[in-house]
Amino acid sequence: MTYSIEQRDEQLVNTTADITYAVMFDRAAQHLVTVTMRIDAITTDSIVAVMPSWSPGSYKIRDYIGWQGNVEVHAVEGATRTPLTFSWRDKASLVVPTRGVSTVEIAYVVYGNERTVRTNHINRNHAFLQPPAVFMYVEGRTQELHHVELFHNAAKWPSVSTALSPVRPGGAPGGGLLLGALNYDILADSPIELGEHAIRSFELRGARHEVALASNHSLDIDWLTQEIQRIVDVEADLFGGLPYDRYVFIIQAYPGVYGGLEHGRSSVNAVDPSTLLDKTKAKELLALLCHEYFHLWNVKRIRPVELGPFDYTREAYTTMLWLAEGMTSYYDDLLAFRCGFLTQEEYLDVLSKEHFARLAKVPGRRRMSVRDSSFLAWVKLYLASPDGNNRFPSYYLKGGILFLLLDLYIIDHTDGKRSLDDGLRALWRAYQATPEKGLTEADVLAAFETATGVQLRDLFMKWLDGVDELPYDDVLQAAGLKLHVAGPQPEAITYGEKRGFVMVPPQLSLGWSVADVMGRVLVRSVEDGGPAQRAGIGIDDEIVAIDGRRVTSTSLLDQFFQLAGRRDVTLDAVCDGRTYQTIIRPDYIETFKLVDVKDITNRQNMIRAVWLRRTI
Ligand SMILES: [Zn+2]
Repeated sequence: MTYSIEQRDEQLVNTTADITYAVMFDRAAQHLVTVTMRIDAITTDSIVAVMPSWSPGSYKIRDYIGWQGNVEVHAVEGATRTPLTFSWRDKASLVVPTRGVSTVEIAYVVYGNERTVRTNHINRNHAFLQPPAVFMYVEGRTQELHHVELFHNAAKWPSVSTALSPVRPGGAPGGGLLLGALNYDILADSPIELGEHAIRSFELRGARHEVALASNHSLDIDWLTQEIQRIVDVEADLFGGLPYDRYVFIIQAYPGVYGGLEHGRSSVNAVDPSTLLDKTKAKELLALLCHEYFHLWNVKRIRPVELGPFDYTREAYTTMLWLAEGMTSYYDDLLAFRCGFLTQEEYLDVLSKEHFARLAKVPGRRRMSVRDSSFLAWVKLYLASPDGNNRFPSYYLKGGILFLLLDLYIIDHTDGKRSLDDGLRALWRAYQATPEKGLTEADVLAAFETATGVQLRDLFMKWLDGVDELPYDDVLQAAGLKLHVAGPQPEAITYGEKRGFVMVPPQLSLGWSVADVMGRVLVRSVEDGGPAQRAGIGIDDEIVAIDGRRVTSTSLLDQFFQLAGRRDVTLDAVCDGRTYQTIIRPDYIETFKLVDVKDITNRQNMIRAVWLRRTI
């Protein structure tokens, strides 16, 4: 089976397709779209139409068929439509007998009311269509051209943003907006946002870029577009150009959402509007944009061999999400630094707090390797139990740290002449040579070694396969850095006009996470080896009182503990309807900071300068 996600808009102009979907939005207020899939040029005795069970990039079986219904099948001959009986082959596949029939229409409705980057969200205000959750495919015919015609009220919803290519730029004869994909993989990879959202566009490095910002607020799209131009410029510089003619940044700014999903010529980035209302919070959004945009190279094109072509009906197991997501997680913050969104000090701070400190709070890093965590992503990261943190590490988090260490290792062992950038560009050249072929672990490590001249295979495989603590300081010292883990020192600060010192006590850790639920404080997770676990507290227990004082909120709880300091505290709790009492003694929170080693050498300064360089 051949595989390609490359498409240029000009390739679709005035094409015809034997598989076309008409999408109606007249029931959008009920979160429904109606799809009529027309299949022409049938030459077989039967066809099988399949609804995907998952979306590439999001490794979870979602059984999109569950949101589909009202299926009707007709044979079409000229203007005559004759009902056809069909049967289900399995939960997501229907079989249509087609002896003597050359055209079939399969009509169905799809319900979409879940606002994530990987599910449909349809209402009276807008529609976000995630193609694997909307469009069935015909077995054996996924390599053909596919058309989608959107029948929406263009006066009400003037904005349509998608990487699907316009087929009739002047308007389709049926009155809808006709879009196309060279094959089903490209269709599945091209989400559509329709509504009243704001759009900006710019040309850069010979390609067109569109920024689509959907929100209930009026947000600063011009500022955002300017920062996105910087991201495009810096990442294009890293890879030596842009591999597309047009790219669409879809940004959904709605309360309480966060996440992204990468595509070949677009990305969907979901954030809380506060990240755009308050620019001091914008770094989170900019790093997310750096991450999803980087994926157009790493994951969509440079990819593990199992990730394209896809079987949309079942899991695509790969041990290599450390490459797909780990390397991308390392580069997203590094690119935010290269773009100038972070100072050097802020970048080191992000590494300390959001990478090293976070991994230290994951006992599961000592229990499962990142290769296994990747392979089992379908039932671990994407289906994590509240106890998951104790059982496995995220391949994003640990994978990102592994690539930081690898980058410094390469720079050190080449006296600053090579870096991970060279390894990355070698992977990019491998894709360009054989785009239809994915990479194995051996391919990746061989490419890194050839591009850098550094023997790193054994060491890196040991890190990928191991559960031992990583040799942070051995590697970091090359750049004159070490990871300082601060103990329980109180911090002295002045206030007002130097009105004396206030001793701020060190932060305490209970080794749990708690949540406010209807005026009750419930335990949501318990860290292996932490104070809560030692005190015999379990997930879902309710914390009622501390030292005889009632607690009704997590903020009250924090206050009590902070005032009590690090001493034994009596805790009243409820487990499954029965009260119990226990003693808990908090730990101090360890703070992580990357600091300079003593007597930093010229060589260490040089290595750090190579690592933390701004390329343009
Ligand atoms: Zn990612």
